[in-house]
Amino acid sequence: MVDAPALHRTAIVTGGSRGIGREIVLSLLRSGTEVWYLSRSEGTPADALCETAGVPLGMAHWVGCDMGNAESVEQALDTVLAQTKRVDILVNNAGITRDGLIMRMKDEAWEEVLRVNLTGAFLTCRKLSRIMASQRSGSIVNISSVVGIMGNGGQTNYAASKAGLIGFSKSLARELSGRSVRVNVVAPGFIETDMTDVLPDAVKDGLKTQIPLGRIGTAREVADAVAFFTSDAASYITGQVLAIDGGMAM
Ligand code: NDP
Repeated sequence: MVDAPALHRTAIVTGGSRGIGREIVLSLLRSGTEVWYLSRSEGTPADALCETAGVPLGMAHWVGCDMGNAESVEQALDTVLAQTKRVDILVNNAGITRDGLIMRMKDEAWEEVLRVNLTGAFLTCRKLSRIMASQRSGSIVNISSVVGIMGNGGQTNYAASKAGLIGFSKSLARELSGRSVRVNVVAPGFIETDMTDVLPDAVKDGLKTQIPLGRIGTAREVADAVAFFTSDAASYITGQVLAIDGGMAM
């Protein structure tokens, strides 16, 4: 007997140009999913991502988007929706830091981090939840951080945005559950990307001592958790927060 062809899945990933987002795009491509990734720069060209993932060219698409600008988000999503009516997976991964102690934190540093990390996810979820609800299926994964669970001095803005994403996701999971749309959160710990590259070696070494598994994580390890949440293996899982942190936040 010939197996029925797998359902053609489509995904939107914010911030797929590098780091964790790029690995999420690659992992979704490898699972046979067509992916649109939204970021300000393309990073690795979409065709090169297809080659790396070993899938046909045309499975990955880049759409320029500034997640901190509501008009840009709206336009980018319209561009995707003009090419696909179906959206099975949404991963809100785009995120920034503007660290500083609260006594010296400028309004802009507070507002920009909240706008990109939290409002950006609100905007994509608001628009795409309508489509997923009418499909009566869909999986949303929001990328938070262990900092949103544990807090971190010098990151009040970032922690507020990442903790906000957790409450937002649990509420959305409850709102959309009746339509079989699942919403989950992945909370990475200390992962090797451009975001953490800027930290001085002494800070990195200090952080490693707080990680029970004793090492920095990889973007691939975070992408694997996203792949799980978006797969059928997680069909009975919604409203959960999974820390990929080497045990840091237990
Ligand atoms: P990187 O800085 O390596 O990459 C960030 C990604 O977000 C890039 O693709 C970038 O694309 C995109 N991005 C940033 N600002 C915007 C914007 N305004 N509009 C659209 N896209 C944007 O970060 P990581 O890969 O390390 O982080 C990915 C996610 O994981 C973030 O949400 C981060 O908070 C979270 N995280 C990371 C941890 C780590 O240790 N690395 C730990 C915990 C959580 P471009 O610049 O092209 O726009």
